Amino acid sequence: MQFEDTKTAYALKSDKELKRALFLFKVISKKKIVRLGGELILLALRLGLPLNSLLRRTVYQQFCAGTEEQDSIKIVNELASFNVKSYMHYAAEGQKSEAGMDLNLEKIIDTLLIASENKALPFSVFKPTGLGKVLLFEKKSGGIAFTESENLAWERMLERIHKCCSVAKKNRIRLLIDAEESWLQKAIDDIALDLMKQYNKKQPLIFTTLQMYRKDRLGYLKELMDIAKNEDFKLGVKLVRGAYMEKENDRSNQRGYPSPICISKEATDLNFNAGLEEILSNLNLCELFIGTHSEESVTRVLKFMKENKLPADDRRIWFSQLYGMADHISFNIANAGYNVIKYVPYGPLKEVIPYLIRRAEENTSVQGQTPRELELIQKERLRRRKIKGSQKK
Ligand SMILES: Cc1cc2nc3c(=O)[nH]c(=O)nc-3n(C[C@H](O)[C@H](O)[C@H](O)COP(=O)(O)OP(=O)(O)OC[C@H]3O[C@@H](n4cnc5c(N)ncnc54)[C@H](O)[C@@H]3O)c2cc1C
Repeated sequence: MQFEDTKTAYALKSDKELKRALFLFKVISKKKIVRLGGELILLALRLGLPLNSLLRRTVYQQFCAGTEEQDSIKIVNELASFNVKSYMHYAAEGQKSEAGMDLNLEKIIDTLLIASENKALPFSVFKPTGLGKVLLFEKKSGGIAFTESENLAWERMLERIHKCCSVAKKNRIRLLIDAEESWLQKAIDDIALDLMKQYNKKQPLIFTTLQMYRKDRLGYLKELMDIAKNEDFKLGVKLVRGAYMEKENDRSNQRGYPSPICISKEATDLNFNAGLEEILSNLNLCELFIGTHSEESVTRVLKFMKENKLPADDRRIWFSQLYGMADHISFNIANAGYNVIKYVPYGPLKEVIPYLIRRAEENTSVQGQTPRELELIQKERLRRRKIKGSQKK
C-alpha cells in the first residue's frame, strides 16, 4: 500500500491547516513540553485564565470536530466524500455527576439517531465511565461490595447502557464499547459479554475492546471465542494496543503488584499480532475493528485479505484511526476501497480537555509515529509549493 501518497492523504487539508498541523506535531513531539503543558492547562482552566483561544486554534482544531453535533456532521460528510466513514463521540470525559452522565446518554442517543440517517456513520461508541461512576467500576472489578446507594447508581448505569444498545439495535448501528484502565476493566468486560450474548445472535451489533498491551488479553480473546462458539452468538472486537500504559505501570509500581502490561513494545506487538491472527482466522465468529495508527499492523491485515482473496470492503473488517491522526493511512486505504472509519470527537472545549491532553501525550509516547506525521506533512507542503511554483512560471 502506498501510504506515501500525500496528495490523497491530505486532500481535505488546506495549506493553513497543514501548517498548523506541522507546528502542533513539532510541539507535542517534545515530551517535557507536553507534560508541563498538560498540567499548566489544567491549572489555568481551574484559575479561570483565558486559554480558550490558544487551545481552540491548536490542539482542539486538530483533534476535535467542533462544539456541536452539526460541526461534526460537516466533517463526517467531507470525510465521506473520500470514502472515509466516521463514528461520532461527545468526548466530554469530565462529566462525573449523575446529571452529567444523563447528558452523556442523551448525546449518545443523539449520535445514534443522526447515524440512522447517514450512511457515513455505520458505528457509534460509548465509554463506560461516561455513563457510570469510576469508583463503581473499580469496586465491581475488585469484587468489593456496594453500599445500598451504590447499588442503585450501578443499576442506573446499566439502564443507560441498555438504552444505548436498544436504540443501536432499532437503528442497526453497531456499537463500540471503549476499553479503560485495567482496574476498571473486569466490570466492563462482564457487561460487554452480557451485551454480546444478548445482541449479537446473528451478527455483531456490540463490539468489545481488547487492549493487547495487556499480558492476559490473548487468553481472554480465546476464552471469548469459546464462549461465543458454545453459546452460539457472534463477537465484535475492537483490537487496540492500549492507551494507558504509563498510568498502568505507575499504579502497579506504587502499589507493588505486577504490571498487567507487556514487558516491551515488541512483546505488545507480538500479542497484538497473535490477536489479529486469531480473529482473522475466525472471521465468521468474530468481526474485526482494528484501531491503530501503525502502518505495519494495517499492512498485515491488508496482506491477509489479499492472500485470502477477501474483497476490500468485506463487512467483517474495519480499519480505524482517530480524527487528526494518521490521515496517510486512512485516506490511502479508503481510496483503495477498504472499510475505513475515523473516530470523530466533539464537545465544548472545556469538556474535552482530558481527551486532548491524552492525544498530546500519546503523540509524545508513540515513538515513530509523530516523526512520520511530520515527514509526510512536510512532503505534502513541498509538493504543493512546487506546483504553485511551476504555475507561476
Ligand atoms: C480508533 C481507535 C480507537 C481506540 N480505542 C481505544 C480504547 O477503547 N481503549 C484504549 O485503551 N485505547 C484505545 N485506542 C488507543 C490505542 O490503544 C493506542 O494507544 C494508539 O492507537 C497507539 O497504538 P498504535 O497501534 O496506533 O501504535 P504503535 O505505535 O504501534 O504502538 C504504540 C502502543 O504500543 C504500546 N507500547 C508502547 N511502548 C510500549 C512498551 N515499552 N511496553 C509495552 N507496550 C508498549 C502502547 O499501547 C502504545 O500506545 C484507540 C485507538 C484508535 C486509533
